[in-house]
Amino acid sequence: MNHFSDQLSTLQQSGLLRQMRHTDAREGGMALLNGTPVVNLSSNDYLGLAVDAALQREWVQQVLPAMGDALFSASSSRLLTGNHSYYERVEAQLERMYGRSALFFNSGCHANMGILPALTGKDDLILSDKLVHASLIDGIRLSEATHVRYRHLDYERLEALLREHRHRSRRVFIVTESVYSMDGDVADLPRLVALKQQYDALLMVDEAHAVGARGEHGLGVGEETGCLPHIDLLVGTMGKALSSVGAYVICDETVKQLLINRCRTLIFTTALPPVNMAWSLLVLERIRAMNSLREQLRRVTATMVQQLAGHAGVSVDGQSNILPVMIGDNHAATRVTDGLLDAGFMALSVRPPAVPPGTARLRLSLTANLQPDDLSRMAGVLKTLLEVSRNNNAEAQRR
Ligand code: PMP
Repeated sequence: MNHFSDQLSTLQQSGLLRQMRHTDAREGGMALLNGTPVVNLSSNDYLGLAVDAALQREWVQQVLPAMGDALFSASSSRLLTGNHSYYERVEAQLERMYGRSALFFNSGCHANMGILPALTGKDDLILSDKLVHASLIDGIRLSEATHVRYRHLDYERLEALLREHRHRSRRVFIVTESVYSMDGDVADLPRLVALKQQYDALLMVDEAHAVGARGEHGLGVGEETGCLPHIDLLVGTMGKALSSVGAYVICDETVKQLLINRCRTLIFTTALPPVNMAWSLLVLERIRAMNSLREQLRRVTATMVQQLAGHAGVSVDGQSNILPVMIGDNHAATRVTDGLLDAGFMALSVRPPAVPPGTARLRLSLTANLQPDDLSRMAGVLKTLLEVSRNNNAEAQRR
């Protein structure tokens, strides 16, 4: 037992101990944190759909009564008896939206951990951005392919790797996110498409933080940049802007069929419950027409960027609605988060291993339903907390 408690003590000493809090999301960009109302600057419910009472009422009144007997469990994996009719309907809806085949998974983690091991072998090469999500890294680790990482968004380095290794590998997979989950910056998809074409590689893009929130029809950065037809494996997750659970990959039909036969995280898990899939279907049917919410999210982001620069002296470029406020030290980041919580703002810090050592930060994750007044008040509180943090740091260095 000591072995485990020693590990917890080590985490505590290095400012890396995590605790779960009770968070109940509320409308208007709010949440109840252990029962206390706070402004929620840490939600991935980017369009506010998870707290949209009218949409949920509509689902309860119109969709629920027409569902069959089994609501809460699929009772089996998709390849056995769990492939209920809502799976077919959700995939057909996605296929209409993207114009290609779609395969639904239980979560983004399931998709990312299963796809690459299913499609690659020891003669293949995976080139991935250094900052891709942990689930992609785990998928790469489970694959037998050779793996090389390139510096974050450094496409010159990626090209050098392609030049050096392409001829030695049967197939090459380039793996990236579109909107990066911890940095909020955005991959240059047109450049990646050009590279994949030039070097005859395959491109996998995780659009977890972009689907629903970006693109004219909510299809993500791939849609925004006209790259959709060239992305070989596009992963979208339902748990963020799409306010549900699960994930999908958009790919060619042959790849879909191969995944159905080979992908262990699809084959060996119980399918999602019909209720969740039926809610996903409604959201996917509506997401196309939600441009005013996407526009509202852009406005909230622009206001926050302005407030951070004006009030808190923090410069962020606002490429997306995820805004990192860099702090560095793990303990200092936790203190700033705690100070914000005391003032009624939930803006959680992210620390290693979610981000590289020495780069602990607040991760502001903005949603369309946040109120402008709350944003300016938050920037004012943050200014004071960052000043205290800098002074503490300077004092510690003098000692
Ligand atoms: N990819 C990225 C980039 C993510 O940020 C996340 C969730 N944090 C996932 C995949 C996993 O998605 P899910 O929560 O559906 O497992």
